Amino acid sequence: MKFDVVYKKRVKIDDLNALVTELSEIVGPDWVSTEEADLVAYSKDYQLITNRWIMENKVPGLPHVIVWPENEEEISRILICANRKKIPVVPYGEGSGVVGAAIPVYGGIMLDMKRMTDIIEVNKQNLTVTVQTGANGKWLERQLEQKGFLIGHVPQSFHTSTVGGWIAHRAAGQFSTKYGKIEDIVLSMRVVLPNGEIIDTKLYPRASNGPQIERLFLSSEGTLGIVTQATMIMWPLPEKQQGVSFAFDAIEDSLKATQLILQKQIYPAVVRIYDKQETERHFYNEPQAKNRLMVIFVCEAPISSLVELEISEIRKTCLECNGTDCGKNPVDHWFETRFNVKETSVYMPKGQIADTIEISCMWDDAVHLYHSVINELKKLDGLLLASGHASHFYPNGVCFYFTFSGIVPEGKSPEEFYNSAWDAAMIATLNSGGSISHHHGIGINRARWMRDEHGPVLDLMKKIKHVIDPNNIMNPGKLYDEPERE
Ligand SMILES: Cc1cc2nc3c(=O)[nH]c(=O)nc-3n(C[C@H](O)[C@H](O)[C@H](O)COP(=O)(O)OP(=O)(O)OC[C@H]3O[C@@H](n4cnc5c(N)ncnc54)[C@H](O)[C@@H]3O)c2cc1C
Repeated sequence: MKFDVVYKKRVKIDDLNALVTELSEIVGPDWVSTEEADLVAYSKDYQLITNRWIMENKVPGLPHVIVWPENEEEISRILICANRKKIPVVPYGEGSGVVGAAIPVYGGIMLDMKRMTDIIEVNKQNLTVTVQTGANGKWLERQLEQKGFLIGHVPQSFHTSTVGGWIAHRAAGQFSTKYGKIEDIVLSMRVVLPNGEIIDTKLYPRASNGPQIERLFLSSEGTLGIVTQATMIMWPLPEKQQGVSFAFDAIEDSLKATQLILQKQIYPAVVRIYDKQETERHFYNEPQAKNRLMVIFVCEAPISSLVELEISEIRKTCLECNGTDCGKNPVDHWFETRFNVKETSVYMPKGQIADTIEISCMWDDAVHLYHSVINELKKLDGLLLASGHASHFYPNGVCFYFTFSGIVPEGKSPEEFYNSAWDAAMIATLNSGGSISHHHGIGINRARWMRDEHGPVLDLMKKIKHVIDPNNIMNPGKLYDEPERE
């Protein structure tokens, strides 16, 4: 097959055959591939601009070899081999990341975790589940449901992402306001370090025992080691689930209502505020939401009366903030369509460039930040759509999730247009006091904003990376590389 490689940094491996032979000895010849179809399949994740490249016969990065290990010992031997030969290793879950974090920009070994999916223990007394990190999210939740439990981590990519990918990106699910982000859910983990050492962090409910090393691996995007096992919090299945929705005239009122609800220590499982544009796209069947914003709440708990109390407090607060009760139908519609992501696939064949950008901020920056990002996106030449919803909520702040789409203006390349939209959103976010990512991560897309996000703390991160991975074999080109901005 003839194709171009976009990232021209692929390392030269002197003796690829010797590497393949050594890897085959470790995992068995059936679990190593240098087939071109496999190399192309593992050349990307789900960063949207890369889908366009594939349609143009371009692959983002090309690995040299794919390997599917079965256990930690094999991973340890692979990393020892890669370290000796100074060959990049990129961990791979299910490739649903949207920021290019799994793209092998320097080539090397793609280490796919899909053979490591065992549930090691379900501990009903501690309410924990220990699982290998190659486990698929939907599959894991289904296994637990059969035993009467749930983790409650349901990202929109539930069907196509792994526990390891969640940890590597500090992911957030649709029910995060009640069950937490993944960093609130994971208690301990097993990690294979770049030198091949296998470490287990200790399991405890809380402790005061020195820096929490396991936190380092949350959001590390495969750059510090391979997380192979995690112990996570689970809960009994809810006895009751109830939804309610409200329409608002102004985003200010809807944000105020949700802030008050969270600060009353009411944690609905789901809260979503759709701005007017998104309400029009998603809730066109709801007459009371016409030209207004739709807000969805879902409460659930093992005690029914708790749910009823939460719903009544939510109703009271929303009505006090000028909301109109729209009942349950919009919530049912949300449940029916919550995994539907056809929008972005519809744009691309029409030549449009689209993407989604999620950020977070404290409550006192929220209103300004929302308007600022939308206004900056709308200023772009070629922009057709800029909209947003608030998707994750905390007593102290909120996550906004923006969508943009446009056509490339004359004189600009698709990549220039794409980057200018990202730059507009990132600058507006930083200037408004926000954080550049809430749950999708940094990958390639946001690397040029890491210095603005962290300042000198980025230098400390680089030092930690160097201590753990002195040969920089783990997912090089990510997080710490500060690419120049145009
Ligand atoms: C339609 C759609 C909807 C999405 N919705 C959400 C959402 O609601 N919430 C959300 O948080 N994200 C969402 N995402 C983004 C994505 O699904 C998540 O980032 C997910 O956590 C990635 O998991 P994965 O297993 O596919 O990881 P991959 O994409 O395979 O890898 C992601 C990163 O993790 C590293 N990695 C993978 N496994 C390991 C491991 N075991 N040890 C160390 N590093 C590892 C990789 O090297 C890479 O850097 C969505 C994506 C899509 C396409």
